[in-house]
Amino acid sequence: MPSVSISTPHADLLVAGAGAAGMMAALVAAHHGASVLLLERDPGGPSNLMVSGGLFPGAGTRYQAQAGIADDPDRFAGDAHAKAGGAVDPPVLAAIAAQSAPAVHFLADVAGLPIKLLAGLSVPGHSAARLHATPAESGRELHALLRAAVSACTLIHRVDDAEAIELLTELDPSSAGGKPQIRGLRASVHGQSRDFAAPAVLLATGGFAANPELLAEYLPEMKGALHIGAGANDGRAVSLGRALGADLGFMQGYQGQGHVNPPEGRTRLGMSLPPLGAFIVNREGRRFVAEDIGPSELAAFVLAQPGGVALEVFDARIHASASTQGPYREAFEAGKIHIAQSPADLAHRFNIPRQTFEETFARFIAAVASGHDPEWGRQRFGPTLVPPLYGAWVTGALAHTQGGLRVDTDARVLRSDGSVIKGLYAAGGAAASISGIGGAGYLPGNGLAQSFGLAMLAGQHVAAQAGKASLRARAQSAPPPR
Ligand SMILES: Cc1cc2nc3c(=O)[nH]c(=O)nc-3n(C[C@H](O)[C@H](O)[C@H](O)COP(=O)(O)OP(=O)(O)OC[C@H]3O[C@@H](n4cnc5c(N)ncnc54)[C@H](O)[C@@H]3O)c2cc1C
Repeated sequence: MPSVSISTPHADLLVAGAGAAGMMAALVAAHHGASVLLLERDPGGPSNLMVSGGLFPGAGTRYQAQAGIADDPDRFAGDAHAKAGGAVDPPVLAAIAAQSAPAVHFLADVAGLPIKLLAGLSVPGHSAARLHATPAESGRELHALLRAAVSACTLIHRVDDAEAIELLTELDPSSAGGKPQIRGLRASVHGQSRDFAAPAVLLATGGFAANPELLAEYLPEMKGALHIGAGANDGRAVSLGRALGADLGFMQGYQGQGHVNPPEGRTRLGMSLPPLGAFIVNREGRRFVAEDIGPSELAAFVLAQPGGVALEVFDARIHASASTQGPYREAFEAGKIHIAQSPADLAHRFNIPRQTFEETFARFIAAVASGHDPEWGRQRFGPTLVPPLYGAWVTGALAHTQGGLRVDTDARVLRSDGSVIKGLYAAGGAAASISGIGGAGYLPGNGLAQSFGLAMLAGQHVAAQAGKASLRARAQSAPPPR
């Protein structure tokens, strides 16, 4: 067991990974008086936070109250539970849902982020409008704002170009069998091995979507899929946790994305188009799915079409509405979206059979008019499409994995016997999520809901353990609604 020297930098909390979960946990712990060392492997990014849509759920926020939207954590947990087909850890899901509104208020009131509610956005699986965002509705903006808040916090010390490589442990004198407890972390800093000491380490290094071995072991159906998340998702948390006997949960869960622009997948249309009225055809000009299913499960349907691609069709109204969102704007600016004057013109531009597409278009318009889709069972239609028509090729991709280290309701990592690995926490892609198994269990917003929720719980617990904040204060940690 490596020793920690006297000059070793130390803090109340070591956080590995300065993405969504890591920055949030650092801010929360520091807000409660704990000192934090925040280690980031690649400060230039990208992280999943940066490439994300930057939309995060809050159930019962003051923004919802102001918009007259009734919502609460139980309702959110019910939606996530239903979407995952019940394959969730109910206490952990309830704890995350309960933190969703406090997290939004914390970001606004403590971190100082400008927050808005997307009150008009209809999101598959959400029974209330609860997605919030910063003004540009983009992960890049959210990342930059969080990073600025971290930089302004004197209790957080960032260590950049620092890659977490090993957890440092000692025997826990209070445990019967002499189980290990955390005493720090070894990192490679600018290529040099360096030890950091702390009684608590939060693993926030992301998931394993860029690790071929773990994909082959747990998600063979997505092994060859285009991966649009950040390359840093190498499964480091899984290997570090496993070395200490950590249990894993929901490793077969993932978020797919069915609106990604081929071939390179650098841009995507976002999830809002079908709920607004868009429809999707394959290369033969035929519909193949109820387009208003969630964007995650849509991925597999698109990949099953000839060439693994499909054409998403919409109009100027939908274009204007989607243009508030960062990912859609990026796709438009990248030239992925083309405009046609009529169905025949669209078929010509995208080289799909004209007559078949015109017939499909006519049947879809009839389904919209009647509110009934006998072919595919679509539920939500939006207003009828009016030419000029907009079109873009889409494909299915793997966005991020949902399985990871199993945690309790304080984000503490668990062994398979249910005991806690003292001092070890996980959040975000590093931790088991709330999205069940496969791609269909992912409710939009689950990624940041879990990242921020577990980060809140970990940050508060670490501060309480360090004697910086009482458990009673913890319960009241969210600023009161204004
Ligand atoms: C295309 C896409 C769109 C998405 N859109 C949404 C959305 O709109 N809403 C939503 O809720 N979720 C969304 N998500 C999911 C969301 O981005 C993730 O759930 C969230 O970013 C996970 O946070 P994280 O902190 O675990 O990972 P990240 O945000 O990826 O941060 C991990 C950090 O750890 C660093 N790191 C990695 N390894 C190490 C190491 N060994 N040592 C030190 N540092 C390390 C990385 O460089 C990175 O900065 C989306 C994901 C993708 C891919």
